[in-house]
Amino acid sequence: MARAYVGLGSNLGDAEANVRAAIERLGCLGTLRATSSLYRSAPWGRRDQPAFVNAAVALDTELDPHALLAELKRAERELGREVGERWGPRLIDLDILDYEGRTLEGVELTVPHRHLAQRAFALVPLTEIAPQYRALLARLDPEARAEVVKLAPPTG
Ligand code: ADP
Ligand code: MG
Repeated sequence: MARAYVGLGSNLGDAEANVRAAIERLGCLGTLRATSSLYRSAPWGRRDQPAFVNAAVALDTELDPHALLAELKRAERELGREVGERWGPRLIDLDILDYEGRTLEGVELTVPHRHLAQRAFALVPLTEIAPQYRALLARLDPEARAEVVKLAPPTG
């Protein structure tokens, strides 16, 4: 059994409902141990797109990192995500933020997530359920942190 932290994001359609549906879907991949609040965040990478709804979950799973990534991609497809522009609007984005504290550097999968240290929208929900990431969050620009606003309490 491994502890994975998965980050969720959506900025198309009913973003809040998309994130909630994805959280429910993640429960099929193992045992959900914690769910963060839902947050609203300013778009990252490309600013000319709707705001995002973000969250993070702690998932205990028997899936190895690559199998988990494959399942996350399948869930993205099933939840209606289409292949689009990099950092462009998406119905749902599911990222492995952390897997058992391990470091993996592959073409298809990098863990911890490649941009975690720069993304307040990932770190703010993550630190709510994984306090070990607080130091990383503290290094971010306070302005970037302020752009991530609590929207709704944890589901379930
Ligand atoms: P991003 O999540 O950076 O906004 P995408 O969701 O389009 O962008 O991801 C592009 C690719 O990143 C995926 O096809 C996947 O193979 C790769 N990837 C690398 N590391 C990870 C990770 N830790 N979690 C999810 N995807 C990852
Ligand atoms: Mg992704």
